Amino acid sequence: MLEDLTPAADQAQTCKAVQRVREHPDTTERDVELIVEYMNNPAWGHYQLSYALRKKGIDVHKDSIIRHRQGRCPC
Ligand SMILES: [Zn+2]
Repeated sequence: MLEDLTPAADQAQTCKAVQRVREHPDTTERDVELIVEYMNNPAWGHYQLSYALRKKGIDVHKDSIIRHRQGRCPC
């Protein structure tokens, strides 16, 4: 009965974290590189990184960082 079940495609079209950084008016290409670098750096906790970004005026939810770290984005 359950043979045809397949996991829903969970691949987001965009990386929400990178998208949020891009939305900031002062963002440079270097910032986009840096956010990916920080997310790929295990020294950054997802909550800690989300908080640090919020202080810079970029609202990246920690779940977006977790999604990126789980490879559930196009990065
Ligand atoms: Zn990503």
